[in-house]
Amino acid sequence: MSETLYLESDGIWCRTFPPAGDGGVAGRAALFLDRDGVVVEEVHFLHRPEDVRLVPGAASVVAEARQRGIAVVLTTNQSGIARGLFGWDAFAVTQSRLEALLAAEQAAFDMVLACPFHPDGNPPYRREHPCRKPQPGMLLRAAERLGLDLAASWVVGDRVRDLEAARAAGCAGGLHVLTGHGPGERADAILLDCPDFDVRLGESVAEAHALPLLQP
Ligand SMILES: [Mg+2]
Repeated sequence: MSETLYLESDGIWCRTFPPAGDGGVAGRAALFLDRDGVVVEEVHFLHRPEDVRLVPGAASVVAEARQRGIAVVLTTNQSGIARGLFGWDAFAVTQSRLEALLAAEQAAFDMVLACPFHPDGNPPYRREHPCRKPQPGMLLRAAERLGLDLAASWVVGDRVRDLEAARAAGCAGGLHVLTGHGPGERADAILLDCPDFDVRLGESVAEAHALPLLQP
């Protein structure tokens, strides 16, 4: 089976999905989600579809956000590609499995972005990149393409850099979770809280239901 690749000219994966409603998501807030250790259980350099397991409650949060007209955008650093551990075909089939598991629970993303670059990787991906979190490039690209209201948007992440990217993009705040690499990053995640960026603490992405973004 040959998977379609959604690679842009600068090496970033960017796939847009059909909107949940007729009107699209322009002007709406987004819920930005990290993938590994947030939406799916942490697997070291996940790249096999059979290893994809949803974090309990993830599909429910995704489905509820979309029902409320909030764009759901997955942004993921994939340095395993720069490091030569797997290729885009493996990323594509892994994403397809994730998307199928979500679809079985009536959940879907509006956009998926992945950044393959890493300064310790191999050419052509051996460098820093404005899309590699903690840089905000993937969030800014999603905002531009979908017309998102970044100031009303939130992120859920297990790594400090997930929240740093959202703060740099001008988002309202972030939920730091204890799945994935969360336990080792919590102390530093708390330090990102400031008047312009509201850091909330939770156990898992399931607690995103309580974010201001998802309140009536
Ligand atoms: Mg992660």
